[in-house]
Amino acid sequence: MTPTTDDITRWSACETAERVRRREVSAVEVIDATLARIRAIDGKLGAHLSIDAEGALARAQSVDTRLARGEEVGALAGVPIGLKDIFIARGRETTCASKILRGWIAPYDGTHVERLERADAVLTGKLNMDEFAMGSSTENSAFQLTRNPWDLGRIPGGSSGGSAAAVAAGLCAAALGTDTGGSIRQPASLCGVVGMKPTYGRVSRYGVVAFASSLDQVGPLARTVEDAALVLQTIAGHDPRDATSLPHPVPDYRAACRRGVRGLRVGVPREYFVAGMDGEVEASVRAAIAELSRLGAELVDIELPHTAYAVAVYYLIATAEASSNLARYDGVRYGHRTAEPRDLLELYERTRAEGFGPEVKRRIMLGTYVLSAGYYEAYYGRALKVRTLIRRDFEKAFARCDVIATPTSPTPAFKLGEKIDDPLQMYLADIFTISCNLAGLPGLSLPCGFTQGGLPIGLQLLGPPLGEEAIFAAAADYEQATEWHARRPPL
Ligand code: GLN
Repeated sequence: MTPTTDDITRWSACETAERVRRREVSAVEVIDATLARIRAIDGKLGAHLSIDAEGALARAQSVDTRLARGEEVGALAGVPIGLKDIFIARGRETTCASKILRGWIAPYDGTHVERLERADAVLTGKLNMDEFAMGSSTENSAFQLTRNPWDLGRIPGGSSGGSAAAVAAGLCAAALGTDTGGSIRQPASLCGVVGMKPTYGRVSRYGVVAFASSLDQVGPLARTVEDAALVLQTIAGHDPRDATSLPHPVPDYRAACRRGVRGLRVGVPREYFVAGMDGEVEASVRAAIAELSRLGAELVDIELPHTAYAVAVYYLIATAEASSNLARYDGVRYGHRTAEPRDLLELYERTRAEGFGPEVKRRIMLGTYVLSAGYYEAYYGRALKVRTLIRRDFEKAFARCDVIATPTSPTPAFKLGEKIDDPLQMYLADIFTISCNLAGLPGLSLPCGFTQGGLPIGLQLLGPPLGEEAIFAAAADYEQATEWHARRPPL
């Protein structure tokens, strides 16, 4: 029987690649079905900033041609993958959801595009995000709102909100996002999909627009743990073009998914179950931890005493680095340039005033302030010291456990507009995801339940540096034992 559009867009990335390789379905059929679903649904969701139908069909055709000739194809043959619009791809627009980059066509491919295409993935489009990845709801995009596929009146999370919404809605099998303080895990959690932020340095940053360079990390969003493992496998590994890229060989993450959680010690930090968090979130996460124990994990109570400082430290370090990274948008080299400036200073000032949105301006001002001569030690210097204390908390904790289990987000998806005028409330949405970036650790979010109102809830699993395998083992075992990942949003 020929599969329908609906069947094809439900398949996991692993299943799609397998069927294409066995020639049960052609890559062109997969991409046709994907494009049809995007046309039918993306008008409601607003996940895509651009769609490359022609390029995607040409790629798919080339996969089919090679298969017909009996040639080998890559591990992601014919799999439709979306990119957050922060990734650079030659000849394609990269906007970072900012007016300052609108119309900018990248002159080269980043490492991620290169590696995905070498594995015969088909890149279908660029996905919406908070401007320059600053935000937790995707409402800071200069161009459009993205809606949560489970409730169109709610936000999809951010900053990789377009990626999470597209994967949840079946508009691509997987997507890439970036995570500086939670931007892969939090939207994954709020949209009911899997999101993995690897160890700092595990994936190259070459070809990703920089936000806060000591925190930024690239990773996959997918509908199953094994799909996240497959995509990470493809993009991870040393890259001489990123000085912070780690030289360690890439383990077989898909094999790790079959190892099971039995025998692993799962740490439960008391600082992550705080007053004020949503009751349904707490109940689901506690039930998920009990399930891990039932599956054979040993639960250990642990402490992460400097957790309370994480949000403050993050917003000092991330804004400091952002103010420096964003200095390059000067109207001379990239994107937007103001009309008829009187002199160079006015060129800079007007270009930046016109090009950046309010949240980006707020971050640049904060960052410039904390780096200014009189305040540098008091703010930035002290933030670096507390960052070390947070890292040591984890070192101590990981002497006693293999993975740490926490909620990903303190609440399910909130309503569009609910927090946009209150930056502090928005910043608090990242309270459980930020420490992982400050310490450079790997972290994954996966579905662990739904609220009464039908909104997804996420479980976060953290590991020690290069501890991705234990995370995949625990996550895949939990996924196998539960049904959450099999639900589809009512679109
Ligand atoms: N929400 C956080 C912020 O606004 C994290 C963003 C991210 O991880 N890119 O900075």
